[in-house]
Amino acid sequence: IMRLNAKRAFITAAGQGIGRAIAEAYVREGAQVTATDLKSDLLAGLDARTFALDVTDKSALQAAVREANPDILVNCAGFVHSGTIAEATDEEFDFAMNLNVRSQFHSMAAALPTMVERGSGSIVNIASVVSSIIGAPNRFIYGLSKASIVAMTKSVALDYVTTGVRVNCICPGTVESPSLHDRWRATGDYEAAQKAFIARQPMGRIGRPEEIAALAVYLGSDESAFTTGQAHIIDGGWSAG
Ligand code: NAD
Repeated sequence: IMRLNAKRAFITAAGQGIGRAIAEAYVREGAQVTATDLKSDLLAGLDARTFALDVTDKSALQAAVREANPDILVNCAGFVHSGTIAEATDEEFDFAMNLNVRSQFHSMAAALPTMVERGSGSIVNIASVVSSIIGAPNRFIYGLSKASIVAMTKSVALDYVTTGVRVNCICPGTVESPSLHDRWRATGDYEAAQKAFIARQPMGRIGRPEEIAALAVYLGSDESAFTTGQAHIIDGGWSAG
């Protein structure tokens, strides 16, 4: 039995990594998927309606969300800035808040009215365990942007709690993705960075995008009907203690 049968889903940053795995899992579970990414060529091969979408373009994002009229909205687009407060610039701060946070504000605002009208809907925001949950070295801007997602998720969930619309966020630990390898390369010592990033998970490995997608299927489906406003941690035990 397909767990997302006949549900319309709208996904940002579905071209690679976690977003791609979520799009593939949603298609497998019977959803009618609209999969978008900044780079439309990355969406090739998905059994979905696909087009290029920059989530920092407010009017394009809101028009696309309204047109798709989704039962499930997955906000995945985000960027990982490296560095401490001493290295942070205002430009990086603004970029992170616009891409990681403001885009989710805009897409949720566009999706909510018709979800409320239908009396059902599930919003899944991709945050990070590096947020309000734990800090990590060199993640000053990233952590504060992802903490904002946790706060936004709780706020919207509460304001809509009696409407049938649920809002949750996923807080992954380190997960295999193309940008993860970029971050390892950017440290100047790929091997050492890889070792350190694996070691911080007590399980001794990094997560697979499919493992995050499984949680996104659950949160998108009616199986999770009693959960809203939560930060769902999936991190190989990183934040357990
Ligand atoms: P990734 O970073 O490898 O890929 C990101 C995707 O986002 C790319 O396809 C890119 O084209 C797209 N994108 C970039 N800017 C965009 C924009 N303005 N509009 C639309 N799309 C845009 O993938 P990932 O590492 O799986 O990260 C996806 C999300 O998961 C991010 O929000 C990230 O912060 C979060 N996350 C990742 C990890 C991890 O370890 N990989 C851990 C926790 C949270």
